[in-house]
Amino acid sequence: MAPHVAIIGAGFGGLCMAIQLERAGIGTYTVFEKADDLGGTWRDNSYPGAGCDIPSHLYSYSFEKYASWTRRYPGQPEILGYLEHCADKYGVRGKIRFGAEVRRAVFDESRWQVTSATEGGRERTEAFDVVVMSVGQLNRPRLPDIPGMAEFEGISFHSSRWNHDHDLTGRRVAVIGNGSSAAQFIPPVAERAEHLYVFQRTPNWVIPKPDATFAPLTRLALHFVPGLQRAYREWIYRYAEGTLYPALAQGWSVGLLRQRALRHLRDQVPDPELRAKLTPDYPPGCKRVVIDSMFYPALTRPNVDLVTDRIVRITPKGVETTDGLREVDTIVYATGFRSTEFLAPMEIAGRGGRSLEEQWKGGAAAYLGISMPNFPNLFLLYGPNTNLGHNSIIFMIECQVNHIMACLPYLSGPPMEVRPEAMAAWNRQLGAAMERMVWGEGCQSWYKTADGRVTNNWPGPTTLYRRLTARPPRPAYQVVEPG
Ligand code: NAP
Repeated sequence: MAPHVAIIGAGFGGLCMAIQLERAGIGTYTVFEKADDLGGTWRDNSYPGAGCDIPSHLYSYSFEKYASWTRRYPGQPEILGYLEHCADKYGVRGKIRFGAEVRRAVFDESRWQVTSATEGGRERTEAFDVVVMSVGQLNRPRLPDIPGMAEFEGISFHSSRWNHDHDLTGRRVAVIGNGSSAAQFIPPVAERAEHLYVFQRTPNWVIPKPDATFAPLTRLALHFVPGLQRAYREWIYRYAEGTLYPALAQGWSVGLLRQRALRHLRDQVPDPELRAKLTPDYPPGCKRVVIDSMFYPALTRPNVDLVTDRIVRITPKGVETTDGLREVDTIVYATGFRSTEFLAPMEIAGRGGRSLEEQWKGGAAAYLGISMPNFPNLFLLYGPNTNLGHNSIIFMIECQVNHIMACLPYLSGPPMEVRPEAMAAWNRQLGAAMERMVWGEGCQSWYKTADGRVTNNWPGPTTLYRRLTARPPRPAYQVVEPG
């Protein structure tokens, strides 16, 4: 009998899981989605200029290549359109329960009791054999803890909750933060705003994004020439793997990445004083490298100021730094996400009532980033140590879904969980591989916990991850006797 599967989240991961179940003829699943639409991060992040800095033909499922991409790097509306296309084509939309937020999942020694709440707050608990958590790493905005934020008299919002009702034309705008999100919306906002202050705490390494629309002939060729789209996708993948990954692993291309970024800065920022403010003092890749060709030019506009003095407080009128107050009408917090708090605020209780929060108090960890001892038949997509700084997350998600699909035949029987020995071996391998990576020291980033443990990133090549997740799962798992 096919297991009943609960999938939590209808973003890239949850949809991929649902589609593969459909393709395998398993219709006994429900996708819980707390919002009223699918798309995950690509539904939430609708700020001006939102898009992906991974090329379109790689930022898509391998089984659903898409000749309709209009440009080399996809914009947010196009990515959302792609996900909607996939949900409809594979018939999974009807199995998504929108407006249903999962609050708790409790293992009752044979099945998972999943409690969700509707918008009215009414709770409902249902039993499932298998739970697949697919809530992403960057789903909960992180607002900073700056004194006075509540007293600001203008409009303020987080970049991932963009206030589209608030027109920025002719306004004085403050942007706090300068990561990948800010880099994308600063150029269009700078064009509209009367004045824009960008508050930078730490500069980022930035490399060019060679974006362009596809010529009609190119699109036709990608659509009709057999094998061309696959070859193009493969080429992008191999380039990222062959040149960017070695830089993050402090290998042969470190110097190349640094030179590329410094050249980009020199080419786009003529003013040496501004250039100095924008030059990082930590190794490239330690924080996520920003891939963008419009960010630096926006900072050179006469109506834009890059402020590097420390923010002291937010006042009712604006942002006060150590060198004074900038009065503004709007503050946009581009301050990132609560990335290391995987699965929060859901309560997850495994075997014997074991709390996942308790198990993860030293930092989230999961075998292959997918499963944990004490939590039978519970799987994660885009879990701990599966984020990348150099290639497509969709590739990783597909590896994880393939692994879960390989586990499924065993899951209609007694529940199974990863063996503690397999988990311990995984942690050892991960720790050893992490040592050569650039993320460890020299910078703060969303990749790691407050005490410096890198809980978010995968330290190996993605080819290795594919190999590891493609191994038959059984030896690493054990059956759990009903309690
Ligand atoms: P982020 O990279 O975490 O950047 C947050 C920014 O806010 C940083 O500049 C940080 O400064 C600043 N900040 C945080 N707290 C602050 C405070 N109290 N005072 C002053 N500044 C503060 O967040 P993000 O830009 O939203 O990007 C998150 C991730 O999303 C990216 O790294 C990327 O993986 C993903 N993303 C991807 C794309 C894409 O095209 N694929 C696009 C957008 C986002 P510090 O650096 O000093 O901490």
